[in-house]
Amino acid sequence: MRALSATELLTVWERGLAQSPAQRALTLLTVACTETPLERLAQFSIGRRDMHLLELRERTFGPQLASIATCPACGERLEFGMKGADIRAASPGDPDGTFSVTHAEYGVQFRLPNSLDLAGLDPAADGETNRRHLLLLCVTAAQRGGGEIAVAELPEEVIAAITQRMAEADPQADVQLALNCPQCGHAWQAPLDIVSYFWSEIHAWASRALREVHLLASAYGWREADVLGLSPYRRQAYLEMTGQ
Ligand SMILES: [Zn+2]
Repeated sequence: MRALSATELLTVWERGLAQSPAQRALTLLTVACTETPLERLAQFSIGRRDMHLLELRERTFGPQLASIATCPACGERLEFGMKGADIRAASPGDPDGTFSVTHAEYGVQFRLPNSLDLAGLDPAADGETNRRHLLLLCVTAAQRGGGEIAVAELPEEVIAAITQRMAEADPQADVQLALNCPQCGHAWQAPLDIVSYFWSEIHAWASRALREVHLLASAYGWREADVLGLSPYRRQAYLEMTGQ
């Protein structure tokens, strides 16, 4: 995998503006992993998908990630940095794997959620409805006392066991940051969603790049492709010469 070029970043940004987060993740993967067909990328487990996105993010914008959080206890604003390596899980989830959970008289077989599953969720639905829907898609068989039953018949504690097993099997799908407030000492966990993190960086980068294209194209009569083809250093040097 290599870094996205300036032109690729702008293309991804333009395409992603009208897309859902799940679709944006696939758009990014398609540009980054040209050797893998789209159907296969869409079948990557969410953790495997996010592992690739994290690598693409590091190659494109560097190994350091900066973030902000608000302390839930005292409201202090916390700025912190982390390395991609700090939040990389040891193993990617196996998209072709079948997993099973046995709980009391219940037995359940399931696979890991993937991008196709996420794309099929209703963005207007609440989290609980979507969680149930995901389960329906991923559970391949369920039994009670040896007899086949429908997913809807599974009790809450079995569903909780499935959710926990899914998280263990695909650790990169749910990254939790351990945060400490320097003001009041409160410790808490906050999720890091690499798709929305990377997307907001691309969005900020694109707004800046378009402004630079506008300034340099106006000053020198260059085309968009000419400006995007410049290294960031040259672009900055020319911008300074135009007085911007
Ligand atoms: Zn605090």
